Amino acid sequence: MSLKATTIAAISTPLAVGGIGVIRISGNQARQIASKVFAPVSSREICTVSGYTALYGRVFDQEGDIDDAVATVFISPRSYTGEDVVELSCHGGLYLVQRVLRAVLNAGAVLAEAGEFTKRAFLNGKLSLTQAEAVMDLISAQGEQAARSALSTRDGVLFRKIAGITKGLLEIAAHLSAWVDYPDEEIPEITDTEILTSLQSAKMQLAQLLSTFDVGRVIKEGVETAIVGRPNVGKSTLMNLLAGFQRSIVTDIPGTTRDIVEDTVNVGGAVLRLADTAGLRETDDVVESVGVELARKKLETAGLILAVFDSSEKLSQEDMRLIESMKNRPAIAIINKSDLERKIDADFIKQNISHTVYTSAQSGQGVDVLAKTITDVLGLFHFDSSSAIIANERQRCCAQRAKTSVDEALDALNSCFTFDAVNVCIDDAIAALLELTGERASEAVVNEVFSNFCVGK
Ligand code: GDP
Ligand code: ZN
Repeated sequence: MSLKATTIAAISTPLAVGGIGVIRISGNQARQIASKVFAPVSSREICTVSGYTALYGRVFDQEGDIDDAVATVFISPRSYTGEDVVELSCHGGLYLVQRVLRAVLNAGAVLAEAGEFTKRAFLNGKLSLTQAEAVMDLISAQGEQAARSALSTRDGVLFRKIAGITKGLLEIAAHLSAWVDYPDEEIPEITDTEILTSLQSAKMQLAQLLSTFDVGRVIKEGVETAIVGRPNVGKSTLMNLLAGFQRSIVTDIPGTTRDIVEDTVNVGGAVLRLADTAGLRETDDVVESVGVELARKKLETAGLILAVFDSSEKLSQEDMRLIESMKNRPAIAIINKSDLERKIDADFIKQNISHTVYTSAQSGQGVDVLAKTITDVLGLFHFDSSSAIIANERQRCCAQRAKTSVDEALDALNSCFTFDAVNVCIDDAIAALLELTGERASEAVVNEVFSNFCVGK
C-alpha cells in the first residue's frame, strides 16, 4: 500500500441546502491549492500559518468572488488524515459548494474517492481499521445505543481488546519459536500449563467477543419485528402508538390491514423495524388471504414477535395457534384492551410465553413496560455501550478465524503434538487478529472497507 502524493478534495457536508457547506482539501499541496482560491482579509497567509488556524476571507475563481468563507488550516500530522488539511466553510448552497469545489479542483486537487480521507487517516496510522469502520457506523447510527457504541469503538475500545489478546498470543509464540529454533540453548522455561492457561484465556475472550455480535447487530441494523394477532385486537393501534404517529389504517372492520405496513421506530434505545401484518384468520377473500400468508411468513422470520391478544375476548382457535407458533421464539405476548372487562385466560398465555405485558394501545397505558420488556428480550437491558463489541461481518469472520485457530492450538497441545504444530496454529490466530485491526490487512480488504464510505468522509 503506497500513500498517494496527490492532494484530494471533496464536499464533506451533505449535498443539500444548509447553513454551512464544507469543502475539505487534504494532501501536501493542500495549503498551496487553498491559497489559489481563498484570500484572507487579514494579512496572514494560508501557506505560512502554523498549527490550527482559522482565517476569515473570500473564496474566488477566475470569474470572481464566490462567497464569504472561513478557511480552517490543520498542519500535518495534527489533522484528521495526518496530512495538511484545509477546510473551506462557506454558505451551504448547492451551487456555492459545487462552484468552490470546482475552483479547488482547477487549482490542482483531485476529487476524493468514497472514504478516501478516512482511508488516508488509516494509512497514516491515525486510526485502526476497526476505528475507521466505527466512523462509518457513527455516521449511519439510527439510535442512541448504536451511536454510543460506535463512539466507544471509535475511541479504540475494540482495538485495545484485540491488541490485548494478540499480545498474549505473541508472547507464547515468541517462546515457542525460540524453543523450536534453538532446541539446545538454555531458553527460559515456559511450561505446558502456562501455554494452556494463556490459550484458554484467549479462547474465552474471543468467545465473549463473538457473543457480542448479535447484540451489536440489533443496535446497529435494528430488529425485524412482526406485530401479529387476529383481526381487530389492536395491532395497528399499537403500531401507531410505538411509531408515534398515524401510520396504519385503524378501523373496527376486521381485516382492514391487508398487506404489511412497515416502519422503523426507536424503542428504549433499540431500533425496531416494525411490520404491522394482516390479522391472522381463515378467510375466503383472495386479497386478504395473501396478506394472511405474508403475516405467517413474517412470523417465521422475524427477530422479535409482538403477539397481540384482545383481553375482552376469550382465547380463540387462532390465538391458540399463534401461542403455539411463538414457543421458543423471541416473543412478547401483549394482552391489549386492558381497559375493558377481562375475559381472556391470561394464565394460559403466561404459562406458554415467558414475557407477557398488559396494554391499552388506545390510551397508551402499559407502553413503557412494553418498551422495557422489548430491550430485555433483545438482551439490550444489560448492554454496556462502552464495552468492546464486534460491529460487522468482516470483524466477526476474523475473530471467528482467530478462535478456531486457538481451538486447534489447544487440541494440538492436548494431543501432545510438537510445539511447532502448536505454533503454526497460534501464528494463524495472530494473523487473523492483525487483519481484524488492520495492522496486517491486505490492500483488497482495506479497499473493501473504505468503498462502503460516502464521498467526503
Ligand atoms: P387490528 O385489526 O389488530 O390492527 O386492530 P386495530 O388497531 O385496527 O383496532 C381495532 C379496534 O380496536 C379499533 O376500533 C381500535 O380503536 C380498538 N382498540 C385498539 N386498542 C384498544 C384498546 O387498548 N382498548 C380499547 N378499548 N380499544 C382498542
Ligand atoms: Zn390493522
